[in-house]
Amino acid sequence: MLWHSPDESANGGWPSGREQLGGGRASPSGDLYDPAMATDVVTMDKIVALCKRRGFVFPASEIYGGIANTYDYGHYGVLLVQNVKSEWWRAMLQDRDDIVALDSAIIQHPAVWKSSGHLDGFSDPLVQCLGKCKKRFRLDHLQEAAAERGEDPALVRCPECGGELSEPREFNLMFKTQIGTVEDTASTVYLRPETAQGIFVDFKQVLAVSRKKPPFGIAQIGKSFRNEITPGNFIFRTLEFEQMEMEFFHPPAESTAWYEHWKQARFDWYTELGIRADHLRLRAHEDDELSHYSSRTADVEYLFPIGWSELEGVADRGNFDLTQHAAGAKTKIEVYDEATKERYVPHVIEPAAGVGRATLAFLVDAYDEEEVEGDVRTVLRLHPRLAPVKVAVFPLVKKDGQPELAKEVRDALRRIGQTEYDESGAIGKRYRRQDEIGTPWCVTVDHQSLEDRTVTVRDRDSLAQERVAIDDLPALLAGRLAQPWSSPKAG
Ligand code: ATP
Repeated sequence: MLWHSPDESANGGWPSGREQLGGGRASPSGDLYDPAMATDVVTMDKIVALCKRRGFVFPASEIYGGIANTYDYGHYGVLLVQNVKSEWWRAMLQDRDDIVALDSAIIQHPAVWKSSGHLDGFSDPLVQCLGKCKKRFRLDHLQEAAAERGEDPALVRCPECGGELSEPREFNLMFKTQIGTVEDTASTVYLRPETAQGIFVDFKQVLAVSRKKPPFGIAQIGKSFRNEITPGNFIFRTLEFEQMEMEFFHPPAESTAWYEHWKQARFDWYTELGIRADHLRLRAHEDDELSHYSSRTADVEYLFPIGWSELEGVADRGNFDLTQHAAGAKTKIEVYDEATKERYVPHVIEPAAGVGRATLAFLVDAYDEEEVEGDVRTVLRLHPRLAPVKVAVFPLVKKDGQPELAKEVRDALRRIGQTEYDESGAIGKRYRRQDEIGTPWCVTVDHQSLEDRTVTVRDRDSLAQERVAIDDLPALLAGRLAQPWSSPKAG
């Protein structure tokens, strides 16, 4: 089941039906149509195609036919993802004083997963089609979709071929592996399914050295692994994925205030990076959706072309995790409150986001097409701070000293961010290439540049061109990069 079927690779593995929406809970309204989508030209197929064409993201092991739910990131994908992560670190560390960073191990002591509840409870109900297709599904997803269609969830059948489904069995999502050369249960370890537990088990250590006391947070970005049942959702749901998680430890009485704070802060992070506000919402979990450790959770959801789906969860985890690890490790995990002169176990608010999902949302939100001089121009209207390449420099022609001057200009701009030099092909083609990867500014050196040391700067979104002195260019573009930005797609 892990291998791509031929038709999956054709659309990058994006699901064809909404019952597979993000593999997660389908749009709670049950509506595929949303007025905010009415004028949007983007489709998931177009995103998958652009990612492949420009080398952002493509199926892993493709020369062997690919491996399901696993993708590689090429040059522009790496740069984009790096920018997404930098913006998260900026919001967590640079813009505040109450969060510290951590990078914990992927393979932890197996007792961590016993205490956290993952060994016993991190599972999904798996059913297999007993009919023709033999595909595997998450029963809860099929039942939710059936309920939304007004059908009896108890009577669900295979959504692919209509076959009967097997009895459900609980399928643990953690990947197992072994330490050492002997395959016995004593050496069984797990690839972490979330980064959060590394933060909880290091809480005492960080407390001792960070000179922080609650309220304060510990943030980390790293890979997590889940043996997901539902195949094929491009980078929305993959087997290995990066998470950006922050555990905010605070006195119990402050939980509501911090919960509200983090919901708003995380919503604002996406809009400040250009996501249109009418494509983003906060949705509180229903009681039956809550994880065992959480008393309340709200998801930041994005309106993907196939409906609203989770980007990030903001959960009130209470003191569940620290209490569990204190018991499991037979140690005390507490802090001392100077004001009340009492010891207590801090409570936790957790914003937990996925790097791949955020990246996908930024790509979808940025994708645009418009007619320019009879041609369709495809353009990624990414926030300039997220754009993989900030500025591209071209000589108009490959002679008369223009390449030399263009390279000099490019060198002068290296400090403001990632730059690119391109002298191959017609100038129009070079602009289009940069439009497709979302480069906010293109600088062109022409014959006039050699006379008066000025160049043209073309704006990706407005297509306006202005003449600027080469010496003023670095400060001008650095200034523009630092300015607030909102998507022209927002209208
Ligand atoms: P879902 O309901 O979609 O399975 P979740 O509620 O299990 O997600 P969390 O455990 O809260 O997800 O993880 C936090 C974030 O990590 C998610 O909001 C998502 O952005 C990301 N994430 C979780 N699982 C995956 C996955 N398999 N692939 C990519 N990103 C993921």
